[in-house]
Amino acid sequence: MAQTAVSIGANVFQFFTRNPRGGAAKPIDKADVAAFLDYAAANGIGPILAHAPYTLNAAGAEPRVREFAEEVMADDLERLEHTPGAMYNFHPGSHVGQGAEEGINLISGMLSRILSKKPYKTTVLLETMSGKGSEVGRDFAEIRAIIDATESKLGNQAIKQSDNQTILGVCLDTCHVWDGGYDIADDLDGVLAEFDRAVGLGRLKAIHFNDSMNALGAHKDRHERIGKGRIGLDALARVVNHPKLRDLPFYLETPCDLQGYRDEIALIKKLRKG
Ligand code: FE
Ligand code: FE
Ligand code: ZN
Repeated sequence: MAQTAVSIGANVFQFFTRNPRGGAAKPIDKADVAAFLDYAAANGIGPILAHAPYTLNAAGAEPRVREFAEEVMADDLERLEHTPGAMYNFHPGSHVGQGAEEGINLISGMLSRILSKKPYKTTVLLETMSGKGSEVGRDFAEIRAIIDATESKLGNQAIKQSDNQTILGVCLDTCHVWDGGYDIADDLDGVLAEFDRAVGLGRLKAIHFNDSMNALGAHKDRHERIGKGRIGLDALARVVNHPKLRDLPFYLETPCDLQGYRDEIALIKKLRKG
């Protein structure tokens, strides 16, 4: 994966920890991990972002759905101990009719049980969602509510990896927040000010960088290639250059093949000033 990333001009990459539809992960190959760590250091690879499977739903109504979520996340974090400094992104979940409040309660319950096990080397990121169906994390206030509920359940237990790094962060998906109704095209400063008030920009650790096929506030979630969607190239250029965002790792999730990603990375580097 790291070699492929370098071959297309990337210096970070995101990967699925296992089949995105769920299932068992491949056993850890220690020699492969060692080769990766050497290669990443030699080639300046930044934080890698592991994405949880889509089927992970801590807010599910059925106990076995919630148990699966908890087992998978705990196992994923254990596996990521082999690559210190990685980040782990997950969709907070869908409350499937139980209501956002109960969803937040279930998600924070899972997070607090897992994060109290030990001080993991991985930062866990809640992904901002578009609000399709019964998704939790549809606005910044719900993201904040999950963080607050988790930290209050954790109390004084292992919440911090070190003094300057919080274990719970946020990944902002440009397509999702746009579809969720945040106008990052016409009012990026306003959206970031709202994020700062609701969550705190210190929690923002990663950007999922996507254009959107749908209109502002559509609550859909269909990613488009950079500059080909409704957010548009000028707005996305302002995102990559924004002083509060430009030093964060950006991960593309656009519908591209490998050559398409190589072209998009070249395009983004051209958009980037200084
Ligand atoms: Fe995602
Ligand atoms: Fe995403
Ligand atoms: Zn999406």
